[in-house]
Amino acid sequence: MSRVFEKRYALSRRALLRSVGGLGALTAMPLLSHEAFAQPVFRVYPFQLGVAAGDPQPDGFVIWTRLAPEPLDLGYGMPSEPVEVKWEVAADAGFRTVARSGTAVARPELGHSVHVEVAGLEPARPYWYRFTAGKERSLYGRARTTPLAGTDLQRVRFGVAGCQHYEQGYFTAYRKLAAEPDLDFVFCYGDYIYEYRGERLANGGTGPIETIRQHNEGEIYSLDDYRRRYAQYKMDADLQAAHAAAAWFTTWDDHEIDNNWVGDIDQDGTPAEVFRLRRQAAAQAYFENMPLRARSFPIGPSVQLYRRASYGRLLDLNLLDTRQYRTDQPCGDEWAATCAGVAAREAQVLGAAQEKWLLDSLSGSRARWKVLAQQIMMMDLDRAPGKAVGYNLDSWAGYAQPRDRLLRQIRDRRIENAIVITGDEHQNFAGELHLTGATPGPRPIASEFVVTSISSGGNGQDQRPDMIEIQRANPQLKFNNAQRGYMICDVTPERWESEFKVLDKVSDREGALSTRTKLAVAADDARVVSA
Ligand code: FE
Ligand code: CA
Repeated sequence: MSRVFEKRYALSRRALLRSVGGLGALTAMPLLSHEAFAQPVFRVYPFQLGVAAGDPQPDGFVIWTRLAPEPLDLGYGMPSEPVEVKWEVAADAGFRTVARSGTAVARPELGHSVHVEVAGLEPARPYWYRFTAGKERSLYGRARTTPLAGTDLQRVRFGVAGCQHYEQGYFTAYRKLAAEPDLDFVFCYGDYIYEYRGERLANGGTGPIETIRQHNEGEIYSLDDYRRRYAQYKMDADLQAAHAAAAWFTTWDDHEIDNNWVGDIDQDGTPAEVFRLRRQAAAQAYFENMPLRARSFPIGPSVQLYRRASYGRLLDLNLLDTRQYRTDQPCGDEWAATCAGVAAREAQVLGAAQEKWLLDSLSGSRARWKVLAQQIMMMDLDRAPGKAVGYNLDSWAGYAQPRDRLLRQIRDRRIENAIVITGDEHQNFAGELHLTGATPGPRPIASEFVVTSISSGGNGQDQRPDMIEIQRANPQLKFNNAQRGYMICDVTPERWESEFKVLDKVSDREGALSTRTKLAVAADDARVVSA
């Protein structure tokens, strides 16, 4: 599959003449060879969407960029031709020692993105990478390779972030994340974009107030729509800084396609075959804009996103996809209602194939910590205490059978030190996992850390008034906060530490960052305690 990005096309004479005539922001020098468009001349800087690295392994990682001189225009300022992009990976930030280099082709079929799977690098060390097209050069990014399998690693440190609603706040948290020392990687749990547009004005205290920023168009459906939405997000310098700082493992949640979608079902009752067309456009745009390996190349509406990475004998990262293979939400997906559907036997969250893959991975793991890096909350919080039990039905709590099947397997197979990492909620939570409805006892099966949002939900507050009662009614819940930010995990063989970093505001660019709390899990004891 990786050859998809290496093969070169010769330009036809007709295409060549058109190119020389100049289209959009780019013109071409006459080509002497019949190779691709090797010497483009850009009138406008083409690397406006930044660079990224992803899916590190011991011998390399994928490096990404997308040529887009006019990111928000239809056609983004590029001609309908393949264009050569040179890449370099160096052992130093000054690019004095180039370890690997080559040429990739940015193709119009893929939005002129390039995904280079760099190999042949040394394990467990940082590298720097950059791209050149014509006479234009990208900024550089940094990424670390992972340690060799079996390495007795003493520490791994990584960031967790996602839910970055462009309209609801600045991405200051990403600027802060980029400045964190010694990050091995970043895990993004999804909601990288949001698919709708809010109102430009809202009621403020003394009259209409303006939305902080606005999406460039309304609800997005077509490939061009999704491309432009990604472009708008990726032009954000704070987001670019976080990508340039470390390799990311990305997964999607719902808003990369449509709110609360699962399988072939959207929230509006669209016919499945019609929704699949939208999913296909969204899946292609997702791949085009993420630093993913060719194994995640979209096939129709599907993208293979569940996958594994390892940090020696210290940590296995199981990246999950809780949207693509799931059965429909029960009870009509109403918030905090419950119905017989919650206990449905045929319900699936991961789907049979991914569930088996995960259990095999957990059983076969020789790593101290087994991370389930995913999207939706696994704690079965009662969100309507005092009345009948009410769940977030879009979370694992709405799917009691697959939830308990997974937790029971973790318990019965004696899989110790399983840590669930979650997004989606736009709040920070930390707590302990037990079978559905079980009275939390002294021995949880696993621990869960739910990470807030970069910006979704606006400034937020320390604890929402409704959460005070919910926390009291759910003893498995140990911590809750509703500000914006990210999490840093600092992991050693003896101890897992999660640091919740929050901003006082995201309504302007000067938000101040602080550590709201640091929580820990000791090896072989899933209880969440203060660090
Ligand atoms: Fe979100
Ligand atoms: Ca979500």
